[in-house]
Amino acid sequence: MSTRRVGWGTWWTALTLLGGLIVVLVFTGLEFTAMWSDPPIYPGPGVTEVRKLSDYAPVIADTAADTEVYILQGTEPGGTVLILGGNHPNEPAAKLAAVVIVERAEVTSGRVIVVPRANRSGHTCTDPHEGYPQFFEIDTPDGPRSFRYGSRATNPIHQWPDPVIHINAAGQTLAGQEVRNLNRAFPGRDTGYLTEQLAHAYVELIRTERVDLAGDLHEASPEYPVINAIVAHDRAMDLAVETSMLLELEGVRIGVERSPAGLRGLSHREWGDATDTLAVLLETANPAQGRLRGRTDTDLILTGQDRFYVSAARRGLLYVPFTDSGHPIEERVGRHLTTLDMLLAVHATHSPESAVRWEGVPMLTELRASGLSAYLTPPDPEL
Ligand SMILES: [Zn+2]
Repeated sequence: MSTRRVGWGTWWTALTLLGGLIVVLVFTGLEFTAMWSDPPIYPGPGVTEVRKLSDYAPVIADTAADTEVYILQGTEPGGTVLILGGNHPNEPAAKLAAVVIVERAEVTSGRVIVVPRANRSGHTCTDPHEGYPQFFEIDTPDGPRSFRYGSRATNPIHQWPDPVIHINAAGQTLAGQEVRNLNRAFPGRDTGYLTEQLAHAYVELIRTERVDLAGDLHEASPEYPVINAIVAHDRAMDLAVETSMLLELEGVRIGVERSPAGLRGLSHREWGDATDTLAVLLETANPAQGRLRGRTDTDLILTGQDRFYVSAARRGLLYVPFTDSGHPIEERVGRHLTTLDMLLAVHATHSPESAVRWEGVPMLTELRASGLSAYLTPPDPEL
């Protein structure tokens, strides 16, 4: 029996390949773990306290679902408003509108509670096969602000595996992957899946803080029928209809949809049924989410311009107008902020004792004129 000696040349080849493999693993590993971070949000002058959502539901403490809750307490008494951005993290105007409120708003009456990363876990991954960039940047005078383009649903690293069929806490039967969709999980369960525990935490927040009006910010594809609209719980319909009419007088077209009683698990239905709050959900048009879109990059996310959607609009296939100027991020954030501002104004006339008033929040006309970057805090290189 003979043993075969391995020559130095073979060893060198093996070591070189091993070294190359380690370099590739380190590089790709760093790139992958970078997705788990979400760049900072800078509390502005109106923020009086920053809490964690787990303060309302300890079951999510030390989990990837826990997230910052920004409190903006006014000097005058009044009611309480809750605003959620990032329920679906791949809807950037919703998160950015909430960020602008955190960084700019100063509340004069009542209290505003803002959660810009409502599904924080969903901000740590990106939907596969969609071609989205991991991050997108918005230029400010002192450098670019970076934001995560997240996934619609909770990161499967944090909640896995999905069941084949899921019946949510409200009794709705859903496809298995919807078990990670926060906006199908309300009112949630404190002993359920992580996403259900997260949903439960928001209902606890609404109850604990006696939230008078709760707004859940979203975006949808231009071919989706509920678009540029307020979806309102039955008890919030008067508020939504009056808001829509007043916005129309100002040249901002926002429709109203009644929350369907038979579609269970969504914020506008379950918040209104499970608590005393007036629940609304706002939608704007984001072509980056649509199935008809072309090249998917930062440019599409920010300019909202896409020639395939222009073509679809010409054929009458969309629920919003779509021209070469598209639906830029300034317009979409501006629609959310202008609608919220009008909701607060109308709510103040309906319930003066629980009025909430703010200053410093830019409206659609200001965002169109100055751009979104004018209302974002420049990046802090120390953070
Ligand atoms: Zn959404």
